[in-house]
Amino acid sequence: MSDKSYLDWPFFEAQHAALEQALDSWASQHISQQHEPDVDQACRTLVRQLGAAGWLAHAIAGSECGAAGATIDTRAICLIRETLARHSGLADFAFAMQGLGSGAICLHGSAAQRAAYLPRVARGEAIAAFALSEPQAGSDVAAMQCAAVRDGDEYVLDGEKTWISNGGIADFYVVFARTGEQPGARGISAFIVDAGTPGFEIAERIEVIAPHPLARLRFNGCRIPASQRIGEAGQGFKVAMATLDVFRTSVAAAALGFARRALDEAMQRATGRQMFGQVLADFQLTQAKLAQMATGIDAAALLTYRAAWQRDQGRIVTKEAAMAKLTATETAQQVIDAALQMFGGLGVVSEQPVERLYREIRALRIYEGATEVQQLIIARELLRAAKNKDM
Ligand SMILES: Cc1cc2nc3c(=O)[nH]c(=O)nc-3n(C[C@H](O)[C@H](O)[C@H](O)COP(=O)(O)OP(=O)(O)OC[C@H]3O[C@@H](n4cnc5c(N)ncnc54)[C@H](O)[C@@H]3O)c2cc1C
Repeated sequence: MSDKSYLDWPFFEAQHAALEQALDSWASQHISQQHEPDVDQACRTLVRQLGAAGWLAHAIAGSECGAAGATIDTRAICLIRETLARHSGLADFAFAMQGLGSGAICLHGSAAQRAAYLPRVARGEAIAAFALSEPQAGSDVAAMQCAAVRDGDEYVLDGEKTWISNGGIADFYVVFARTGEQPGARGISAFIVDAGTPGFEIAERIEVIAPHPLARLRFNGCRIPASQRIGEAGQGFKVAMATLDVFRTSVAAAALGFARRALDEAMQRATGRQMFGQVLADFQLTQAKLAQMATGIDAAALLTYRAAWQRDQGRIVTKEAAMAKLTATETAQQVIDAALQMFGGLGVVSEQPVERLYREIRALRIYEGATEVQQLIIARELLRAAKNKDM
């Protein structure tokens, strides 16, 4: 079992340890790594379960909307993602997408938008999606082409979005589109598009190495009321970045959960597998690997919970969240690979825990800003701080 001594770190308050313990115990009873083969149905079930048990109330903010607190508690979101990821990547995905998909409404939505969507998100009755990426605009978000043109009291959307998690099963999508107030990032707005709106269709379902609902979306003369715009026209990029500032740190937490599960699996294997007259853990080569895995996990956890704590203090976390995501996802990949190696042939058998983790971690190094993008963000912040000091 994972060492839980990190819950005593000064980043946390008493309610955080209690939350982790309650969720861990609930997940042990209700969530397994194995899910029904229909991934859409598995996700719907997980969202309903997480909503009914009250965990989704932590994915949003605003007590009047059924949230656990008045503001977003980043540490709680991170602990929930880490814990769920230890039990099941799909359960973590279901929780995370309710938060990411409704984050823009939570942070910048009108009272009417919040009342219409957030209570259903918290209860697990409405599934949310976040539609930012396009075929020609992934890392380079500001290159987006999907357009929203104002026509009286409506906007007309035309274009495509791709790699959209929950695409095909979501009840609503927060869609970022070019409204053209200014060039580049300053000419983008955010909108809520309900599933089933005429002119909006799922153009393609995408299969990936760790299956979860994913799709390319197409908008063709799709009309939505202007009241579905989130925040001011032209402020969509800021809305997207504010949402990602919360959830980027939580991607680090999910990676941490995968890594902790891999270390648990590795410890069991190392202490149980007999070879050459002793167990695998008796070899110093194995001990060196275990030491490296545990140290990497603690380093990633320190960066993750520093960023979460700092955000909860109301501070800007652009650099810290990037450091956390970069370190936790890259470390988790190495830890999982080392764990799989200890399992020998068993490690690559389909649906073994380490095989599953090996597939599940991969996309985390790409989405919500690839590793290289995080490196650029960290360097940009360092150089900006140095320049300001010189002035
Ligand atoms: C499983 C999965 C789920 C996703 N879910 C969502 C979602 O729900 N909503 C959404 O909007 N998007 C989602 N995405 C999209 C994701 O955010 C993009 O894939 C990501 O931003 C990278 O964009 P891209 O795929 O176009 O790769 P590209 O932008 O083409 O980048 C390819 C690679 O180039 C490298 N690179 C990028 N920039 C630089 C640079 N400046 N210098 C050097 N190298 C660089 C990186 O290694 C990067 O991985 C998801 C993606 C995946 C894989």
